[in-house]
Amino acid sequence: MHNTKTQLLKTNFPKLNRSTLDTLQVNLGYTCNQSCKHCHVNAGPKRTETMSLEHINDILTFIENNNIKKLDLTGGAPELNKYFRHLVTRARELNVSVIDRCNLTILNEDGQQGLAEFLAENQVEIVASLPCYSKDNVDKQRGKGVFNGSITGLQKLNALGYGKKDTGLILNLMYNPIGAFLPPSQISLELEYREKLHDDFNIVFSKLYTLTNMPIMRFGSTLISKGEFENYINLLKTSHSDDNLQTVMCRNLISIDWQGYIYDCDFNQMLDMPTANKLKNKLHISELDLTNLQNTPIQVGEHCYGCTAGSGSSCGGALS
Ligand code: SF4
Ligand code: SF4
Repeated sequence: MHNTKTQLLKTNFPKLNRSTLDTLQVNLGYTCNQSCKHCHVNAGPKRTETMSLEHINDILTFIENNNIKKLDLTGGAPELNKYFRHLVTRARELNVSVIDRCNLTILNEDGQQGLAEFLAENQVEIVASLPCYSKDNVDKQRGKGVFNGSITGLQKLNALGYGKKDTGLILNLMYNPIGAFLPPSQISLELEYREKLHDDFNIVFSKLYTLTNMPIMRFGSTLISKGEFENYINLLKTSHSDDNLQTVMCRNLISIDWQGYIYDCDFNQMLDMPTANKLKNKLHISELDLTNLQNTPIQVGEHCYGCTAGSGSSCGGALS
């Protein structure tokens, strides 16, 4: 795989300042039941990196001591970490909202019986990747059989009340382009998804988020192989909007890797660009004192234009 990091470090991306920390985004490991082409984590069934119980408990301690409001769980497939349910249960007891970045097919895997019911009982918000409402496009990007598995997963969630009004069970879908272009308007695409998924499969959902592909890991490597890397970076840069700078996710979030180290966001984590701090060390969640992050810069690179291009992009979808 081609590493794009060296081509991303030299940048004129504007300086970003931190705001109040309210969200921990935790990568529970790189094991996944899928191997999607665009994956910025390079996750897959053969990856074995997974967060230990010790570090999961470090996270719970940090949440309790720092008034964290939201825990955003990602991977790989986060549910494949064997302490996933322990973490979710304890976080909910602490009154923290939990987001599960669910690939949908995991709900049908052997060994994951009762997962959908567990998520519903704990009122976990689900953000589910579905890059298209057509079978061909989804299978092309995410692998053969993924579309049908995703539809089965969505129907299972709908049957529990997910995505339906007045149940409090949030089911958001995440779109990302299948190639080197920016996402279309989130509002118009959401209408299209609603119509198609309802008419074809009787599926409902809460909101659709659009996410720009990042020129890193598997997607970045594919760009290099196809000779499209520079053009894609230019597209991101020429589409940059300063208005999106105030709402990029790294201003209110920190990202934690499976070993417990902290980063400004999941993308910086994948590029091994740890959070800058006054101690000038790679900081671990077990020793994190937030005063050491005050007035320190967020680490930026050319990939950051992926967050500010067009309507903007974050793990919560378009920014404007
Ligand atoms: S994009 Fe998500 S579902 Fe696909 S391989 Fe990566 S972590 Fe797994
Ligand atoms: S890539 Fe990360 S650091 Fe850069 S703007 Fe986006 S969220 Fe912030």
